[in-house]
Amino acid sequence: MLHKSNKTKRQTKERESRMKRILRTQKSTYVLSLILCLTGMAALFTTLWKTWPQISSSENAFSTFLTLLWTEKPDLIPGLEFKLVYLFILGDVMLISGVLTWILSRQWFLLPGKTVWFQCPYCNKKWKSMEDKALVHCPHCRQLIHPKMIEK
Ligand SMILES: [Zn+2]
Repeated sequence: MLHKSNKTKRQTKERESRMKRILRTQKSTYVLSLILCLTGMAALFTTLWKTWPQISSSENAFSTFLTLLWTEKPDLIPGLEFKLVYLFILGDVMLISGVLTWILSRQWFLLPGKTVWFQCPYCNKKWKSMEDKALVHCPHCRQLIHPKMIEK
């Protein structure tokens, strides 16, 4: 008996630490994706900011922008030849990977909800569902109810 309860305790503990780990990973992935998005946006904004004077005074803004990407060499890092197009591509890649990381992190680390038994106060039938619902339709009699949680 004692042995069994110890085992259950250990399992609960393992589950808790696993959940904490998932939460922590989810949080740091979220921060990472946020940093990627912000850096990407900053890079794109810098690109636009550097080319804006010429773009706004030209007739074909888009082609001027494309030409400038390859010809403009902003002095961001002294001594290094740095074309504006690098910054533009870098910004795009960062923004896209930031968004992807965010989407994927939500799919990978969705916390499994706890399943519990509910009982309908009208028809007294029972069913299993996720814990987090406050108001549901009873699957048996279709009444909108505040489900009563019961032990298995
Ligand atoms: Zn019912």
